[in-house]
Amino acid sequence: MKEVFVHRDPARVGLYKSVLEEAGIPCFIRDEYGSTSLASRKSTFFSPALCVLNDEDEERAKGILADIENAPVTEERDWTCPSCQESVPANFGSCWKCGVLRLGIGVPD
Ligand SMILES: [Zn+2]
Repeated sequence: MKEVFVHRDPARVGLYKSVLEEAGIPCFIRDEYGSTSLASRKSTFFSPALCVLNDEDEERAKGILADIENAPVTEERDWTCPSCQESVPANFGSCWKCGVLRLGIGVPD
């Protein structure tokens, strides 16, 4: 058993658990007060820990979770066109109104 992710938000830990399960990695969320290793924590508030059942899955699980952690959250948000100040949906690569490229923001062509 290896602990691969700890977060104070149980919903996030639960989400990551389902991600690992989809990847075929046996895992579980360690319950409150479930282990003496919590003694090293600085906070007195419990944070749920996501653990993999098999030690050999540790690196793969951490890799998968790191990919999620590093995924750009900006894709979820609309962006504002620097040229015409129009609000553009997140999945648009350029301004729908004036055609300014999103990647060109701040870089005069
Ligand atoms: Zn524009």
